[in-house]
Amino acid sequence: PVHLVWLRHDLRYHDNQALYTAREAAQLDNGIVLALYIATPLSWQQHDMAMIRQDLIRRRVAALTAELAELKIPLLAVEGMDYDSCVAVIAQLLPLGVVALYAQQEYEVREHARDHAVAAKLHEQQIPCYWFDRLCVMPPGSVLTQQGDIYKVFTPFKRNWLVKLATFGVKCFPKPAVQSATAIVVPNLTPMQAGDNSSAGWPVAELEVLNRMRIFCQQRVQDYTTARDFPAIDGTSSLSAYLAIGVLSAQQCVARLQHEAGQQLEQEKSGASVWLSELIWRDFYKHILVAFPRLIKHQAFQTETDRINWPNDNRLFAAWCRGETGYPIVDAAMRQLNETGWMHNRLRMITASFLVKDLHIDWRWGERYFMSKLIDGDFAANNGGWQWAASTGTDAAPYFRIFNPVTQSERFDPSGDFIRRYLPMLASKTNKEIHWPHKPVTAKGYFRPVVEHNEARKLTLALFSAVKSQE
Ligand code: FAD
Repeated sequence: PVHLVWLRHDLRYHDNQALYTAREAAQLDNGIVLALYIATPLSWQQHDMAMIRQDLIRRRVAALTAELAELKIPLLAVEGMDYDSCVAVIAQLLPLGVVALYAQQEYEVREHARDHAVAAKLHEQQIPCYWFDRLCVMPPGSVLTQQGDIYKVFTPFKRNWLVKLATFGVKCFPKPAVQSATAIVVPNLTPMQAGDNSSAGWPVAELEVLNRMRIFCQQRVQDYTTARDFPAIDGTSSLSAYLAIGVLSAQQCVARLQHEAGQQLEQEKSGASVWLSELIWRDFYKHILVAFPRLIKHQAFQTETDRINWPNDNRLFAAWCRGETGYPIVDAAMRQLNETGWMHNRLRMITASFLVKDLHIDWRWGERYFMSKLIDGDFAANNGGWQWAASTGTDAAPYFRIFNPVTQSERFDPSGDFIRRYLPMLASKTNKEIHWPHKPVTAKGYFRPVVEHNEARKLTLALFSAVKSQE
């Protein structure tokens, strides 16, 4: 008997419930575990997945193949096309003697349809599918108000989430037991191709990633509260890319945090508590996405804001994408994204706010651009972040609270070190000048401001109040 484990956003062998359960089952019926990964570049493209993220996945699958080989678990990595091709690939494996399929649940609409089609195919042959709800620490739908409703505001969600954590704890699964060597002859399927190596700077060995997380929880998390908002400092964990593709689980992060910094968690403002909050935000946005599937269709959570008539100037959008707006903090941030595939959280907030509230461009343009560049692109977090910044989402920033990009720059990059790193033409500016290098004239080689913040702000207020007053 073959127990087929279909890996998707759980590219790890520690704390992988699907893999672990399959191995346990195989021990009972003297069967074997076969792991499967199907690359679906056409679907990835349809989802605007960044090439660097695609490369990270491909490199990680290759590393996982070697790691699982040590446990004598074969991993078959197949090059598919789109989600529809998954049914055909899996159907070709069934004659090997597949008795069950195991996978981690995914929630987005197309993913759901894909899994439904696979389950229906297996059902024809009476082969059961086991789906494990492990993408969040608390499964979507499990953190509800007393009336049984979904929370639309983060703080009470978090409070209840913490009660659940204290009551049930967090469980991680050990790595699966080594299986006896198996010579399994798999059908002739196109092997997964290598990527473009653009993610080479990101290690993909599971133990190395786990170790990074452990060191963060042991040695760095205590400084998180004070350091996390300053992009010039390496003050955050930089684990998002690994959480997004499942090299790490959020459960592992929570368990490790409790182990290394349990005492700190009792104080609300400690680094450990604030970091835990970020992991809760991750859960929150996924819960919201499951409860409101219209978000997946890129509709605004606050539906009336979909009536805003965004001017959407292509020239301004291009300046934002290239980091040529004349606002140094925005331009440096966009260059960080374009050059590295990652952007600091404070800068994601600043650039998102700037696109929507200074350049008056529909937040969906920015959401899509971020997705096409981010190594950690994650639909729920990205959509949640954009709708927060655009004041169109759950628990969003009120629309009249508009970031001033220059003040933000002075506050969060006071010495201009981050700006200098990405805008060498401003290197000689003083710490004071660098945030607004236009007085008396724009610094040589730099860009004139594409808009005037105070004027832009007024138009934003007008755009929002037009639709709000119709409510
Ligand atoms: P840390 O500060 O160390 O946080 C730990 C983990 O918590 C992160 O790795 C991430 O998994 C999670 N997390 C942190 N902040 C948030 C948040 N606000 N919402 C949800 N989860 C969070 N995060 C993504 O993972 N993918 C995205 O596509 C994404 N797009 C964003 C777009 C915008 C406009 C904004 C404002 C935020 C976005 N974020 C996204 C959230 C956040 O910016 C990143 O998770 C964070 O910068 C990653 O760095 P880190 O791993 O060092 O985070």
